[in-house]
Amino acid sequence: MLRLLLIIILLLVIYWAARSLWRDFKNLRPKTSSKKAPSSSLPAVTDKLVRDPVCGVYCAKKEAYTVIWKGKVYYFCSEECRQKFLASKGSAASSVG
Ligand SMILES: [Zn+2]
Repeated sequence: MLRLLLIIILLLVIYWAARSLWRDFKNLRPKTSSKKAPSSSLPAVTDKLVRDPVCGVYCAKKEAYTVIWKGKVYYFCSEECRQKFLASKGSAASSVG
């Protein structure tokens, strides 16, 4: 009788564990499928690319050298290009970094 009770308890534990695992599995599925959606990741990548007006090269916005000229921000691939831009515009532009 005691053995039968243990088997019933064991089955209940397995059932409970399987049910909670299945619930976790169902919760995980929409997260992974939304991560793989190309529509959400593609605009973010193109948004981070900026064009260097001096040499025409595209570079990452966070790594680009910046200059504010007449209220507009310009991005450059290198310090050299930034200096060329500043030399062509004069000393009125303020460098940001
Ligand atoms: Zn450049």
